[in-house]
Parts: sequence; C-alpha cells; structure tokens
Amino acid sequence: MRRTIFDEEHDLFREQVRRFVEDEVAPKVASWNEAGMSDRETWRKAGAAGLLGAGAPEEYGGSGGSFLHDAIVMEEFALARAHGLMMSLHSDICLPYLLHYGTEEQKQRWGAPAIRGECLLGIAMTEPVAGSDLQGIQTRALRDGDHYVVNGSKTFISNGQIGDLFIVVVKTDPEAVPGRRGMSLLLVEADTPGFIRGRKLDKLGLRGQDTSELFFEDCRVPAENLLGAEGRGFYMLMEQLQQERLSIAVGSMASCRRALDDTIAYVKERRAFGQRIASFQNTQFKLAELAAEVEVGQAFVDQLVAAHVRGDDVVTEVSMAKFWTTDLQKRLTAECLQLHGGYGFMREYAIAEDYADAAVQSIYAGTNEIMKVIVARRLGLDED
Ligand SMILES: Cc1cc2nc3c(=O)[nH]c(=O)nc-3n(C[C@H](O)[C@H](O)[C@H](O)COP(=O)(O)OP(=O)(O)OC[C@H]3O[C@@H](n4cnc5c(N)ncnc54)[C@H](O)[C@@H]3O)c2cc1C
Repeated sequence: MRRTIFDEEHDLFREQVRRFVEDEVAPKVASWNEAGMSDRETWRKAGAAGLLGAGAPEEYGGSGGSFLHDAIVMEEFALARAHGLMMSLHSDICLPYLLHYGTEEQKQRWGAPAIRGECLLGIAMTEPVAGSDLQGIQTRALRDGDHYVVNGSKTFISNGQIGDLFIVVVKTDPEAVPGRRGMSLLLVEADTPGFIRGRKLDKLGLRGQDTSELFFEDCRVPAENLLGAEGRGFYMLMEQLQQERLSIAVGSMASCRRALDDTIAYVKERRAFGQRIASFQNTQFKLAELAAEVEVGQAFVDQLVAAHVRGDDVVTEVSMAKFWTTDLQKRLTAECLQLHGGYGFMREYAIAEDYADAAVQSIYAGTNEIMKVIVARRLGLDED
C-alpha cells in the first residue's frame, strides 16, 4: 500500500540514504558482525552525508528536517540489517537529549560534532541491579567543589566501546524519596579518568553492536556537564521515551518487511515433492496472514510518526506500538525461519540473523511488559 506520510522531498532523501547504504554500509555489515562493532570512518561518512540527526536544526549542522527524515534513515538501515551502526540510538535517542536540555555550550561542544559523526553517543541507564526499575539505580554522583564524583557500574550499554560521550543516569541525591527525585543526567566523556569500559558482551543477536559494561571509579566530572537541572533526570527520561519507543516500532516494521520479502522470494525458489514451497497452502496462508499484519502495523506506525511530528502526546499509542510491532517481529521471524527449513537455521541465510536480532526488540527501550504497564495505567486500570 502506498504510504502517505512521505512527500517527494522525502522520497529523494530516501534515494540518497539508500545509495549511501549500498555503497558504504552494506559491504561492511558482515565485518561489523565479525568484529562485534562498527568503525568510526563510516560514522564520519554518515555525518558528512547528512544522515546523523537528519531532523536536527541546521544551526548545529543538522539537515533541518523532521523525525520523518530520521525514520527514513532508520528504515533504510534496518532493511540493510546494519545494526552495528546504531544510528537510531545516536540520532533519535541520545542526540535529542543534548538538543532539548543542553546549554548552548553543550550543544556546540557535543551536539554539532555528534551530527558530524565525530562524537559518538550512548546512554547509560541500566545497571546490573536495575533495568526496568530505573529508580533503583545505585550509581552516585556526589558534588565535590566544581565536580561530581561518580561511582557505580552500568551494563548492556550500546556503543559502549566506540562511544565518546555517554548520558549517564546517576543519583545526585541518593536519599531522596521517592528515588526519582534524586536522579540526574550527567554527560561523561570517555577519556575522563575513572571512566572504564568493561567487557564487550557476547550476545545472541545484534552481533555488530558493541553492547558493553561501563564502570565509574571516583570519576570526576565537571559540574557544567550536568544536563538539565539536578534532580530532573527521571522526568527528562520520561519526556524523551515517546521518540525512543517510536523509533523501535519504525525499525521493527522495516525489519518485518525485509524478512517477509526475503521469505517470499525463498519459497518461490525452493522445491519439495515436485512443487515450489510457495504452492503449499500452509505457506500461502502463513505468508498471507503475516503480510496482512505487516500492512496493519505499518499503517499504525505511520500514523504515530505523523502524530509525533505534529507534536501530539501519543505515549499510550506508542507504547502499544512498541509491544505490538516487536511481538509481531518475533513471531514473523520465527514463522519465516520455519519456512526456510534447515537453511533457516544457518547463519549464511539472513533469516537466522533476523530471528536472533528480533529477540531483543521486546526487551530494550522498556520491556514489552513495562509497555503494557504504561498502557494499563493510562487506561485507568490501576486506580483504586
Ligand atoms: C542488546 C541490548 C542493548 C541495550 N542497550 C542499552 C543502552 O544503550 N542503554 C541502557 O541503559 N540500557 C540498555 N539495555 C538494557 C535494557 O534497556 C534492559 O535490559 C531492559 O530495560 C530490561 O531491564 P533488565 O534487563 O534489568 O530486566 P528486568 O528489569 O530485571 O526484567 C526482567 C523481567 O521482568 C519483567 N518485569 C520487570 N518489572 C515488571 C513489572 N513491573 N511488571 C511486569 N513485568 C516486569 C520484565 O519485563 C522482564 O521480562 C540494552 C539491553 C540489551 C539486551
């Protein structure tokens, strides 16, 4: 079905992104998967091509577009299975914190280089003891003169090895009740003494991503690196989650389309019992059902992207989309793998990677259970 949220200018931008992906990204995906991380040179080229912060203001070197441009970049990267270069995390999740809450100096110092692909961003919320329950974090940043002294550890941090600047969620007032009132965001540069990169974690999927541990040992961070106001960290995180979760849904639908298209091509080629796999009614019914769900999901996500660009509050619907699209992606990749038979289990077939990569979609950016908690709360279900 023709998608109506994009105009001609967006289509031209998509062509430009697609060419970049074909020339600069697709040839490197296998080596990123092998190395467990991407390379800085490609980040810089992506910046120079205007793909980082495509929706960011021109005064910081952005293209002055909107989230529609960012969505196009996300889709084209997902279609190329280029998870190593976690473009969306950098541009759509981390960069908006700098641009929304940063001082002019912070925006010039880190926002502009981030858009050029020279300062790679990460966000460190999760700790070994606290993921969904963010208020339970234990990393402390205690004021000492004109510095904060940070102690603690983070885990599962994307861009953990390659990142230059991390938005670190800390407790500046560990005694605050409730805990969220004592939480702040600190911008920590990777070359700060006491900032230590831990292991690059061995994962089931997203093999090109350098998901890592981070440690802070008496790490002295200048007080001017505070992002926004002290004690406002939790609330800033909540404000930005709509875009973070929408980004997951956008990427998820592109990954679904890619896996479905590849499977349709495969079953048309492969034969059993003297006929094409595509000619079995089971294959036809399964793929017809999945194709219908992809159309429904895409229509919903497109509506949400348009609403988000308008500035609407669609937190409830975005939370629904995050769990619905990622559950679909997990189910769809499992069904598509099954239709590939034994070849589907082999890494040389992309569907095997798709299946493994899909598993995390329902876990990060807020688990799907937490999404349902949010929806239920907004439906008034937890009121006495
Ligand atoms: C590949 C990858 C990349 C990641 N990247 C980042 C990153 O860049 N930055 C970052 O900060 N984090 C990152 N994360 C961490 C991710 O956000 C967390 O794993 C996630 O929030 C879940 O936290 P947890 O792992 O501690 O699980 P837990 O919170 O321990 O949850 C375990 C289970 O309990 C369920 N559960 C918890 N609370 C409730 C509840 N109230 N009601 C019902 N069920 C509940 C959960 O849904 C889940 O099924 C990443 C994780 C992965 C795997």
